[in-house]
This record gives sequence, C-alpha cells and structure tokens, in this order.
Amino acid sequence: MLLVHACCGPCAVTVFQTLLAGGERVAGFYYNPNIHPLTEYLRRREALALVAGRLGVAVTFADSEYDPTVFLRQTAFREKDRCAPCYALRLDRAALEAKRQGARGFTTTLLYSKYQNHEAVRAAGEEASRAHGVAFVYEDFRPGWDEGVRLSKEWEIYRQPYCGCIYSEFERYRKKLLR
Ligand code: SF4
Repeated sequence: MLLVHACCGPCAVTVFQTLLAGGERVAGFYYNPNIHPLTEYLRRREALALVAGRLGVAVTFADSEYDPTVFLRQTAFREKDRCAPCYALRLDRAALEAKRQGARGFTTTLLYSKYQNHEAVRAAGEEASRAHGVAFVYEDFRPGWDEGVRLSKEWEIYRQPYCGCIYSEFERYRKKLLR
C-alpha cells in the first residue's frame, strides 16, 4: 500500500486516479494543521472525503492533531519562506504514518499542484524519508492538472480560493482592504 498525504479534495482527484490506474493500492492521509481557519479545514476535509468515496480510497483523518499552533511555531520568523517548513511538517508526519500503517512508502498531493514549490515539496519528502526510513515515492502529477480541475468541477468538489494558511488567506484578500 502507498500512503498519499492529501491536502484537499481537488488535488487528490488526479493523484488517486493516476496511482489506482497504475495498479497501486492507495490509502489517504489528511494531516494539515496549516489550514486556517478550522471551518476551512473542515470544508477541505469534506471535499477530500467526497473524492475518496467516489474512488474507493480509505482515508485516515488526523483530526485530533489539528492544531494551528503547531504550524505557526514551525514557521515563526520564517513567514516569507514558510512553505518549506510547512511541507516538512506535513510530510514528516506522513512518513511516520506510512511507517505506522506498514505502507511501502508515501507520497503527497502537493506534487500535483502547479501553485506549490514542486522542488521544495520533493526535498521535504526526501528528507522525511531519510528521517524515518520509509520510501518517498516521487512522481510529477502536474501533467494531470487540467483534467483534475475539470473533474473536480464536474463532481462539484469544493475548490479553495487560497493555499491554506493564515498568511496565504491574508495575501489573497488583502486587496479588498486597499480598495
Ligand atoms: S502558502 Fe501554502 S504551502 Fe505555504 S505555508 Fe501557507 S499553507 Fe503552507
């Protein structure tokens, strides 16, 4: 089994489909303490559950570990370069979970998004792999971007308007302040 760290529903569509089409046994893992606020975490959680249900993928939701303090401490004083520690936080936990579940390795839906720093995601996955002795299965899922967007719209899956953290939410909407 391959454990897929999943950040949301839309990004999981192509990743789950691609891996399943390759004959992979897939399980999902939702660990995203970066998402702000809690109501947004719940919305993305629900979207992921809908996608997983359609594709027959079981997902572990680490809801008891949702604590924005963890993310804020991880990125404190590194707010401008916050994405690398954000990836590291989530992929380190995913690696541990892959080990706990006896998976052959782990990967992440962050490798699908053309809005993420792809090489930094890959580096964080490889570092987590080294730290915990479980394989990071790298694949560039970005070529499936358009089809993933199309299907998520067709399936009426919630598509979030900002990356996730309080900083990205501020950057997304700050122009409304300045009008
Ligand atoms: S912008 Fe996205 S990847 Fe970067 S720190 Fe915020 S939630 Fe994490």
